[in-house]
Amino acid sequence: MEMPKPDAGVISRRAAIITDLARLVPGDNIITDEDELRAYECDGLSAYRQLPLIVVLPETTAQVVAILKYCQDEGVKIVPRGSGTSLSGGALPLADAITLGMGKFNRVLEIDYENRCVVVQPGVTNKAITDTVEHNGFYYAPDPSSRIACSIGGNIAENAGGMHCLKYGLTTNNVLGVEMVLTSGEVIRLGGKHMESEGYDLLGLITGSEGLLGVITEITVRILQKPASARAVLLGFASSEAGGATVGAIIADGIIPGGMEMMDKLAVNAMEDFVHSGYPRDAEAVLIVELDGPEVEVDYLVGRVEAIARDNGAISVRISKDEAERKMFWAGRMSAFPSVGRISPDYFCMDGTIPRGQLPTVLSRMAELSKHYGLRVANVFHAGDGNLHPLILYDANNPGELEKTEEFGADILRLCVEVGGVLTGEHGVGVEKRDLMCTMFSEDDLKQQQRVKCAFDPDALLNPGKVYPTLHRCAELGRVHVHDGQLRFPDIPRF
Ligand SMILES: Cc1cc2nc3c(=O)[nH]c(=O)nc-3n(C[C@H](O)[C@H](O)[C@H](O)COP(=O)(O)OP(=O)(O)OC[C@H]3O[C@@H](n4cnc5c(N)ncnc54)[C@H](O)[C@@H]3O)c2cc1C
Repeated sequence: MEMPKPDAGVISRRAAIITDLARLVPGDNIITDEDELRAYECDGLSAYRQLPLIVVLPETTAQVVAILKYCQDEGVKIVPRGSGTSLSGGALPLADAITLGMGKFNRVLEIDYENRCVVVQPGVTNKAITDTVEHNGFYYAPDPSSRIACSIGGNIAENAGGMHCLKYGLTTNNVLGVEMVLTSGEVIRLGGKHMESEGYDLLGLITGSEGLLGVITEITVRILQKPASARAVLLGFASSEAGGATVGAIIADGIIPGGMEMMDKLAVNAMEDFVHSGYPRDAEAVLIVELDGPEVEVDYLVGRVEAIARDNGAISVRISKDEAERKMFWAGRMSAFPSVGRISPDYFCMDGTIPRGQLPTVLSRMAELSKHYGLRVANVFHAGDGNLHPLILYDANNPGELEKTEEFGADILRLCVEVGGVLTGEHGVGVEKRDLMCTMFSEDDLKQQQRVKCAFDPDALLNPGKVYPTLHRCAELGRVHVHDGQLRFPDIPRF
């Protein structure tokens, strides 16, 4: 993975930058020691590693403002970081950039049941939000499998999803407002506790902006009342085609399940070995369908789903009898990644989205690619959303195998685009899919997106090297930046 050439001038000024930052962020908030920096050298995409120049851990918005202003004046790049669980390399450090760790922004600021929202700092974990309101029957809906660790700031930056997003929406559908610091040091507030905002949907723009537009310092999220009841149906199929057809038939019947997840045989057996959820090991595909709502409605829908599944050739059907069994059905799926981690030295988690109807085609083409590359692939997917997570199994110790895995992964993502899908469902572009952006967007599309980037960060200091394969100069895009009364053509790396 090629990254922008580091700015040797900035690296040579490291000692002076450390002294300046220590003035702006007093206390034990700056990490400079090589051993300690190692903890930040990668995120969830651990195939790529780079020691950051410095790590700074601010505690207040005023400190973030001071750091960003300083970086703009001194031409120092910044990589914002939440919990570092990104699977697309979004928080991968740069040798000439400070990593701005938001872990100390970890307070729940307000719980407002009347307006059904919670105001939090960005370093609060996804799960902690639900933990805070659960005792009163509320929860925060988007539920990435990493929710115990990932931060809500990182969720907004990646527009994270999860198993219940089919019915309740992704992060973008559950965020009401943010406070954000721009590279200029200006603090902007978008949205609030209210439902709709006037003007451009800037909150929508920030959600999924991958740390390229500003640093989020406060967030207001919607909370929902827990459904009165929920039951899960566990279905086994002799082929993934039959499983895929069932997914389409359930949606076509007008049912929107609370969650609808599919796994292939390799993934199912890895999960069974690890979690023992009771999945049918002989099935080629397993589907979990969760129905939630008032009890009588759930009873009716469970019956409909069972009938649809049998019509489409289900070879086994189990319906959760109680809450413990429902949770058990989910436990395996929730542990999909660690389960697969037990059967292979390394795995590469892909994330593409396709129209649901293309599922059988894509799965059979992926099986051909798996043979071609000689690498196994375990499939788990948010079937209702058409969001695939193929896990390519490899061994980084075998020379050339990482490169082969990258090529296989790129072919899968090209296939997603070819059948009318997109490069990412929820993990973002980061560095992982950066060089594939041209398969999906034209040169004009990419230029227009970068004009937006220039409007927020004209000197391209925030998270450079991510998302865009070639970063155009703002001046080239029709935006000459004026700084200190002079025309400024920022030195944006090309790579
Ligand atoms: C085992 C495992 C399972 C996962 N399952 C899912 C899943 O089901 N669904 C899903 O969507 N994702 C999943 N992920 C991916 C990951 O957890 C999400 O992308 C998550 O949103 C990242 O949050 P984070 O706090 O770790 O962010 P980081 O990894 O620290 O950063 C991610 C991006 O956000 C930016 N960023 C972070 N904080 C801020 C901030 N305050 N202001 C501006 N930018 C910021 C960073 O610059 C970077 O670009 C999984 C990851 C793992 C390891």
